[in-house]
Amino acid sequence: MLDFLIVGNGLAGNVLAFYLRNQNLNYQLISNSNLSKCSQIAAGIWNPIVFKRMTKSWKVDELLPELKQFYTNAEKLLGANFYTERSILKPFFSEEEKTFWIKKAKSDLNNYIEAEIKMPDKNLKKFIIPESYGVVKHSGNIQMSVFLEACENFHKKTKSLLQETFDHKELKITENEVEYKNIKAKNIIFCEGYLVKDNPFFNWIPLNPVKGETLEISSKEIDLEKDIFNRNGFIFKLDNELFKVGATYNWSELNENISEKGLTELKNKLQQMISATYTVIKHEAGVRPSSIDRRPIIGKHPIHKNIFVFNGLGTKGVMIAPYFAKNFVNFYLNKEVLNSEINVERFYSKYKG
Ligand SMILES: Cc1cc2nc3c(=O)[nH]c(=O)nc-3n(C[C@H](O)[C@H](O)[C@H](O)COP(=O)(O)OP(=O)(O)OC[C@H]3O[C@@H](n4cnc5c(N)ncnc54)[C@H](O)[C@@H]3O)c2cc1C
Repeated sequence: MLDFLIVGNGLAGNVLAFYLRNQNLNYQLISNSNLSKCSQIAAGIWNPIVFKRMTKSWKVDELLPELKQFYTNAEKLLGANFYTERSILKPFFSEEEKTFWIKKAKSDLNNYIEAEIKMPDKNLKKFIIPESYGVVKHSGNIQMSVFLEACENFHKKTKSLLQETFDHKELKITENEVEYKNIKAKNIIFCEGYLVKDNPFFNWIPLNPVKGETLEISSKEIDLEKDIFNRNGFIFKLDNELFKVGATYNWSELNENISEKGLTELKNKLQQMISATYTVIKHEAGVRPSSIDRRPIIGKHPIHKNIFVFNGLGTKGVMIAPYFAKNFVNFYLNKEVLNSEINVERFYSKYKG
């Protein structure tokens, strides 16, 4: 019998699958990847700094080592390249901003931002930098489309992916096992992103989803090598003359349709970052599964002890998923407690049975 059925093969389901595999637990993924494009279109950036407050990102000292270990091992296992360490360049728009940056670089953020202030050189021509800029270290991105495709190929090859829409009504639950269309497993875990709203077992978990749109543009006039340029948005290079730009945040229209409003917002962001001409090549939208307290929501169903959820990865899934997939698997194997900040137990009062 399988150890786990995993519903959803976005970032959450795939990362979790590899942590289960590492512990010799076997699984079957069931997913229709056309239902949510969130993971597929994400920029995949990890940034150790929250720019708005100039503080460290939540738990970053613990999350980053696991992130690096997980994705670089996954590259070897899957035979694909998707992990890139990139600096984030942050232009200063006032003397105060610059002074504050230098102060932070010498105190609590010294691991993550460089104290040396940089002046733009010819490589940054057409990037809007009034005078100087700062550099974030230990940042980068996962090229999500490559990662997800490599995962899908791996799971097809190992016959551990069933590509279909999961019908919750078909799930049979007993004390010690679950059964879905003749597939038996000890447990099931739902990794459905914002579509958990349609899951009768977990539709009560308090998500606060946020739609996001991104662009791919081409321009002959700019170059960035490996860096990410950030000002109220981001731009980084995907390939020769091809750049990814993002992202918007919309809490009211929770669908995956691209919009004129999103396009205008992204063009405005670009106007603040570059003075070059460009052509829009691709425009995409997805819905981030953010939670009301901005922490993941992971753990056991209040009644059924063999039904689990792994959700709420929000805007920082790339950084969060490996550390908490490991925590979850260790919790399942009774080796660790589940971190209370992410444990679904904190929302049990919302479950009405
Ligand atoms: C525009 C945008 C930019 C982003 N940029 C970044 C970034 O730079 N860095 C970062 O860390 N994060 C970023 N994110 C957030 C990141 O994408 C998410 O945290 C993460 O991808 C969520 O993954 P998930 O697997 O939980 O959800 P999803 O990606 O939504 O995956 C859920 C999967 O389950 C499937 N599914 C759902 N229901 C069913 C069903 N009933 N039957 C079968 N299959 C089902 C879906 O089709 C999908 O394949 C961004 C998101 C967006 C939208």
